[in-house]
Amino acid sequence: MLRMEDIDLAGKRVLIREDLNSPVADGRVTSDERIQASLPTIQAALDAGARVAVMAHLGRPKEGQPDDASSLKPVADHLSALLGKPVELVRDWIDGLPEIEPGHMVLCENVRWLEGEKANDPELAKKMAALCDVYVMDAFGVAHRAQASTHGVAEYAPLACAGPLLSREVDTLKHVLENPRRPLTAIVGGSKVSTKLGVLDALLDKVDRLIVGGGIANTFIAAEGHPVGKSLYEPELVESAKRLIAKAEERGAAIPIPTEVVVAPYAHSDALTTIKPVADVSDDDMILDVGPETRSRYAGLLEDAGTIFWNGPVGMFEIDQFAGGTRALAEAIAASGAYSIAGGGDTLAALRQFMMTDRMDYICTGGGAFLEFVEHGHLPAVDILEQRANDK
Ligand code: ADP
Ligand code: MG
Repeated sequence: MLRMEDIDLAGKRVLIREDLNSPVADGRVTSDERIQASLPTIQAALDAGARVAVMAHLGRPKEGQPDDASSLKPVADHLSALLGKPVELVRDWIDGLPEIEPGHMVLCENVRWLEGEKANDPELAKKMAALCDVYVMDAFGVAHRAQASTHGVAEYAPLACAGPLLSREVDTLKHVLENPRRPLTAIVGGSKVSTKLGVLDALLDKVDRLIVGGGIANTFIAAEGHPVGKSLYEPELVESAKRLIAKAEERGAAIPIPTEVVVAPYAHSDALTTIKPVADVSDDDMILDVGPETRSRYAGLLEDAGTIFWNGPVGMFEIDQFAGGTRALAEAIAASGAYSIAGGGDTLAALRQFMMTDRMDYICTGGGAFLEFVEHGHLPAVDILEQRANDK
């Protein structure tokens, strides 16, 4: 694919798709991680003398129904503050942008207000493409979606390239999945096997060990024939879990399953917790974290790993007394000499909660895109950029 760094942007009309989707309260951005991550790309384009227009989305508005609650106004204000110059928010932009001076930018109102965005409508994509000389796809967080602003526009723009943020995410993930330093150990936790079945399957083709945690582990515990009481688990996926265990055995890989767990009668900070072997879990128990013995076993497995790939908390970390397993895991990853990659909305929230984000070697910014890339090895928004580069 073409890369923004390799294109002379001076004086050009450059349309950049960023992922600026940020939490907003009382008209203000409350966490600016995604804006910060996009800033170097925007700044580089401005420094190169481009006439920059940025497309982004906020929330999940109904298409064709602009509403103030999903306006990008708070993001425009925040960007202005970070860049130290005003950022005009253009409400009606799809039929033509105002004149932009070289080295200046405007922000286009919520791209999801436009009818046809989600369906990747070619007419809408052509209108976007008509606004620019160069289209830059930099929104890794939505690169798994083929929509007008992430995919269609790349088909029709005079020139379409990857922005530095997107390039870095794709290069890093490709490298780790294709040429990992071994042993490659993956940790997949979180709530449900059903949302990550494809990822578990794909990882089992590559990893040396697959550590499961959280609600996902509960389904594996059930597959081993143990009771799981009132725990979150998916009975209809027990067969899939058995198949994955068999697949791991065939490959000589291991899926270490929790042997003792933290249980409580209900998921609350005031609940009385007990640590017990998985065989002793009773009908009234909820498994909410991995126990200390399991934590040290996992830490041992991570110690000599070459590469660690982490998605999904191994307990209900939002509640302090069930955060211990996830925290221990994060610490073991940080202590290991392995190259570590972490991604996923809740995984990153857990790392923030423990103030350990900067102790991972690489933080992947897009949750869904991260998992899709692991599962399929490619992303629609990147495919089209590669296709455009090959067409030439
Ligand atoms: P990510 O966003 O990192 O991909 P998921 O969305 O799959 O992760 O899962 C995160 C959620 O899983 C968290 O809200 C956490 O509380 C929940 N979870 C983890 N372990 C358990 C458990 N044992 N029981 C119930 N929920 C759990
Ligand atoms: Mg999540």
